[in-house]
Amino acid sequence: MHALVYGAGASLAAPAGRPLFFPLRDALFAQLGVALDAEELAWRMAPEALLSRLAGAGVDVDRELRSMLGGGRPNALHVVAVEVLRRGDPVWTTNFDELIETAATEAGVEIHRLLPGDDAAGTCALGHLVKPHGTLSDEHVLARSEDVLAPLPDAWLERLAADLDQARVAVVGYAGADVDLRTGLAAALRTTAALTWFGRPSDEGPLHERFGAVDLALSERPDRAALEWARAERLAGGVTPELADQLAEEIQHPALQATFDADRLLRARVIDDFGRALEARREYRSALLLGPRRRTAARALYSSGMIHGAPWRPPVVTALNLACALPLRWITPHRLRLPYLTWNVEARPRLRALERSLEIDGEDPAIVLATANAAKEVDPARAVELARQVQAGALAAEQPGPLAWATFTLSFALRWIGDVEQARDQASRLADSYGPLAGPTWTAWGHFESGASAALTGDLDRGAEQMLLAAEVFTAAGSMFAFDAWCGALAIHRADGDEPARQKAYDKASALLQDAALRRRFMREVLLVEEAELAREQGRLDAARDMYSELSASPTLAQQLLGLLGLGEVQRSRGEEPSAAREALRLSDERSFGFGRVHACVTLGLAGAMSADEAERRIAVDDFRAPERPDADGLLRFCQGTDAARHVLCFP
Ligand SMILES: [Zn+2]
Repeated sequence: MHALVYGAGASLAAPAGRPLFFPLRDALFAQLGVALDAEELAWRMAPEALLSRLAGAGVDVDRELRSMLGGGRPNALHVVAVEVLRRGDPVWTTNFDELIETAATEAGVEIHRLLPGDDAAGTCALGHLVKPHGTLSDEHVLARSEDVLAPLPDAWLERLAADLDQARVAVVGYAGADVDLRTGLAAALRTTAALTWFGRPSDEGPLHERFGAVDLALSERPDRAALEWARAERLAGGVTPELADQLAEEIQHPALQATFDADRLLRARVIDDFGRALEARREYRSALLLGPRRRTAARALYSSGMIHGAPWRPPVVTALNLACALPLRWITPHRLRLPYLTWNVEARPRLRALERSLEIDGEDPAIVLATANAAKEVDPARAVELARQVQAGALAAEQPGPLAWATFTLSFALRWIGDVEQARDQASRLADSYGPLAGPTWTAWGHFESGASAALTGDLDRGAEQMLLAAEVFTAAGSMFAFDAWCGALAIHRADGDEPARQKAYDKASALLQDAALRRRFMREVLLVEEAELAREQGRLDAARDMYSELSASPTLAQQLLGLLGLGEVQRSRGEEPSAAREALRLSDERSFGFGRVHACVTLGLAGAMSADEAERRIAVDDFRAPERPDADGLLRFCQGTDAARHVLCFP
């Protein structure tokens, strides 16, 4: 038996001529009147994320999709699908178009179509056309972020597994990016009798990352290759010479035009997503004055003013703090001060304030998330606990924004406590799945976290590559977090000894620090670690000691510990008692900071302040699996950098 899985690439060829999803998103952007600086930028936001924002603003996205995706005539691959269905075998497609249905009707083949909400167990003798994302003639198709975040219902995944089990399977023109289908499909593909995945050469990397070692047939025209396969499998009998000829023609991309009315508020929200806060506030303000949806505009303007410091902020914050201090179980003032707290108060006092808010309502998702976010820089173990709670809730409630933020917090905090493997898993979910569904900044954080995890496992090449991707997306989105990505790249290039790349990253980061308004202290300290390490490398030990001393009083756990670890190294190279490394070990133990524990033991062992055996024993049982270098023995094998003896500290 056979089974087919069709993606958008199956409906491209004439006479179908249906568009891919990305041109569709570009048409929506064009209608919105938002000019994106870089073409590059656009693909960082999945079409589903834009559709979700449009739907949230009252745009009838189903109508837009019907007008842009409808039309066309069945092509050769649709006819092949009908042959499979005629034999009672299954066809799965994420496409919304109804060209397979049309081809079946024209061939007089009766099929059983399964749509969301149907009983997926259907076991009649007809061939089943399974459309997990719905179909254009239905009222709703599943195309918004919140529709596709959670895996398909179990009954559907069981059907998928049964449909593909021991079948000769072809996957055609499907990029495999759908989060809801991916895990189930990857599992189902493991028990096929034969599998050929027809894709484009550019699909290779993402497909291997998502599905492991599947057999890929890569070409510029996967649809033509799939027709050859169908012929060999004797499934192409219904394909007329005319249809075969049309499949051989070049793809003509249809001109797409969206039709919704773009309003100010909608434009402001999308601009805000891409990090252009000032421009967005101008639009919010005019939406507040001129409509539409003045209340929503007022809320957006309030958050923006609380974050960026509107003139009315000080009295409002004072009043909210007073209200929060009252012995009342009244959660509203706690919620209203979140945007101010999150962006303007240092992590430790912020965490204290938010833990008090949690005592009022420990279930309020916005407050739990803000608390997890505050905890990640000072109490990572607490952050892991809270972020898991929000992540599960956001997934169940299908909220892409909070889901992405919780996943970022979780990855970050897991990395700090030293569970890099789990951190990496969360990071790749963020970069590849939740981020694109939530907005470009979250995709960039996914790359940042992937890069940081890679560096901590010793894979510096991948670390640098992911940091550059993060910097690129942050920059394109006009986000201040480009600074963090350049500092990450800087730390990695210190370890891999790529001097020109290190210098470039340093220049970029310094320039961004100059312009910073929010988070100044945090940013300065992140860069100070790099400057101190550089001073130590160049033998300017007094300068290094002064900088590390300043860092050892940082309110941020990582910077404080890197300061102590650096001071310990200065003491070691001067033959002094490495008391700072002892303090680093104590504090890392107390606050669960894996990197700090391991590297404090390395310094203490190398300095002879702890026996090498004791250091080895502690490192061996630590949650943080420190990467080892092949060209050094003993404790030196845990040291990164061109010269192991210098014990470079690389914690992006
Ligand atoms: Zn049936």
